[in-house]
Amino acid sequence: MNIGDNIAEIESEIKPYAAKLIAVSKTKPAANIQEAYDYGQRHFGENKVQEMAEKYEALPKDIHWHMIGHLQRNKVKYMAPFVHLIHGVDSVKLLQEIDKEAGKCGRTIDCLLQVHIAEESSKFGFDEAELDAFLSSHQLEHFPNVRIIGLMGMATFTENLHQIREEFTGLKKLFDNLASRYTYSNFHLTELSMGMSGDYKIALECGSTMIRVGSSIFGIRNYDK
Ligand SMILES: *Cc1c(COP(=O)(O)O)cnc(C)c1O
Repeated sequence: MNIGDNIAEIESEIKPYAAKLIAVSKTKPAANIQEAYDYGQRHFGENKVQEMAEKYEALPKDIHWHMIGHLQRNKVKYMAPFVHLIHGVDSVKLLQEIDKEAGKCGRTIDCLLQVHIAEESSKFGFDEAELDAFLSSHQLEHFPNVRIIGLMGMATFTENLHQIREEFTGLKKLFDNLASRYTYSNFHLTELSMGMSGDYKIALECGSTMIRVGSSIFGIRNYDK
């Protein structure tokens, strides 16, 4: 199997769902990304700002770069000029920093709020109460250079498919709930980023609009951080 074949297979699986495939290229060389690009893939996900910035410089400029990893505030400036979507916004302070750097670039940066749905405490994100506190506070009105277009979540790393389904279903419910309850000019929930190589089929059934798939496209990674 090559990269193009892998993408074709996943594209055929997601076709009934009108979801988007984000090819997670972290740790993989630019040549692998170019191969996927030549096949027609345009959305790529990275979890390190510096690595993404280097690949941005080296690769075609019509690639849409998705930041999917945990983000340090002091790194935001390095990707603010070009990042397409930031999936892992897990604090108001981070959102404030993104707003500031987006403003300096004269851009509006699209963001997803990351929600903690897994049982592991190691995964980042807001919980429901924190989201409600933030969204009802009207703080978002002070961040005109960001636009919240959805939510992102990662299920527990487990063999228990029932549990994974419950976690994704819970996130979809929260998504629908927040979308109906809050209206701000920079808050339009259309994207639900959930599902990775091991669980994207379940995620699609639960309402995912963006799956983030790495190893099923590019093969296993030598290291993961
Ligand atoms: C690495 C990563 C992925 C892709 O993982 P695979 O199991 O290789 O598909 C998806 N989402 C996030 C946040 C990641 O860090």
